[in-house]
Amino acid sequence: MLEQSAQRDNGSLAPERSDEFRPLQVIGAGPAGIGLVLALCNRVAAAGSSRGAERELLESLVVFEAGDRPGGTMDRYRVNANTSSHDVVQGIADGTPFVAVRDAYLAHPDTQDELIPLPRIGELMVDPLARALADFLGPRLRCGVEVARIEITPHGFTSFDADGDALATSRNLLLCCGARDEPLPALLPYRDRWEGSARFLMRDSLDDLPAGDGPVVIVGASHSAFSCAWRLLYDPLFADFAAGRDILLLQRRARIKLRGTPEFAAAHGIAYDPVDDVCPDSGLVFRNGGLRKDAKQLYLDIRDGRENRVRLEQIGDIADCGETFARAGLILQATNFAPRLPRVERDGVALTLGRPTRDGELHDLEADRIVPGLYGMGLGLNILPGGAPRGEPSFDGGIHGFQSYPLAVAPRIVDRLVATLEGKIGREN
Ligand SMILES: Cc1cc2nc3c(=O)[nH]c(=O)nc-3n(C[C@H](O)[C@H](O)[C@H](O)COP(=O)(O)OP(=O)(O)OC[C@H]3O[C@@H](n4cnc5c(N)ncnc54)[C@H](O)[C@@H]3O)c2cc1C
Repeated sequence: MLEQSAQRDNGSLAPERSDEFRPLQVIGAGPAGIGLVLALCNRVAAAGSSRGAERELLESLVVFEAGDRPGGTMDRYRVNANTSSHDVVQGIADGTPFVAVRDAYLAHPDTQDELIPLPRIGELMVDPLARALADFLGPRLRCGVEVARIEITPHGFTSFDADGDALATSRNLLLCCGARDEPLPALLPYRDRWEGSARFLMRDSLDDLPAGDGPVVIVGASHSAFSCAWRLLYDPLFADFAAGRDILLLQRRARIKLRGTPEFAAAHGIAYDPVDDVCPDSGLVFRNGGLRKDAKQLYLDIRDGRENRVRLEQIGDIADCGETFARAGLILQATNFAPRLPRVERDGVALTLGRPTRDGELHDLEADRIVPGLYGMGLGLNILPGGAPRGEPSFDGGIHGFQSYPLAVAPRIVDRLVATLEGKIGREN
């Protein structure tokens, strides 16, 4: 009913009066945006009807998604999952509108195999979740609507489409728009042979792939970097391209971290600090910072001489690697995801946003201060989780995916929103 009364003839959800501001609008319905809805549903299901603010948030939020369906990019990566198929759905609690999706996923024979390709997770989990989200939110999920601009007002936030039509106004706004590959400054001179790992890992054809003579140079030793090498070696799509080509992986860190049990680390000679590098919750070594699954196996194969087509080279300053880049036929950059954000402006001036707090609040980077009520999460916005999900104390990155967003990242944002709604935290734009 709320929707119908707020909806105008042009389809806009913008209210007429400032006192009809929604508590929250969410931009982007990939795993991060869906993760926020799951976290709210989990909270409401756990608290029953006793927590009014969570319920108010859940029943009034509006979600804008540029694509024609929710789900984002996860199922476009042509790699196996990082995490066990059971972990992928652990963020869906009993008693929520999404529990049937979780149970159907877990009952599927494919999910008895821990390591399944991300596109398969897409079919078995992301698509059903997207349909359940659409049923649950009804007209409050607006697919095919790209938010082009957001205006910060004294009361909150107004979002606009590319035609300049107002879409919605809210007291708080959460950006979950995903990430884009951005070349490191040292790689700008080599744009003709450069590709970001996200694009490379999503490729289903070789169209426009830079393919000069010379080796493939992969920059970074992250999970994505080893996944790029894995695709080059084992995906039939790249069989001709990679045949006979050297693959060089440039790493800055002195060591490569692998996720595993202490027994696994001992058996494979993986050095670690028993206090700093072990997750106190799970007992796993490098639980969050380590390579997983295919990437981990590939590293061991390279290190132990079973795979000789990839060479690891430790480098100092990337700016000193010019000769290597000049010789390369293809440079794959597997580091430096930048957030893909719409224009956010105050008084007509665009803000540069980033550096989220652990509660997801975004900073105006030039003014070096938090923008009250403006949150962001998802790929490109690394939020170091607190408590058990933080993993090993030495971990200082962000963790991404369905198993982390609803359980580790979104709950902190929900806490903050609830405290604001309950008047425990003031706000001023
Ligand atoms: C190699 C690799 C392996 C991975 N393995 C796993 C795994 O095993 N399990 C797992 O859970 N995760 C995994 N992930 C992580 C997962 O793919 C990402 O965390 C996830 O896709 C990022 O989610 P997101 O919502 O931040 O971004 P996206 O998936 O990019 O979603 C962003 C959404 O926002 C929309 N949008 C953007 N801008 C606007 C706008 N202006 N207006 C309206 N809508 C907008 C987009 O259309 C899109 O739908 C993996 C990632 C990589 C790179």
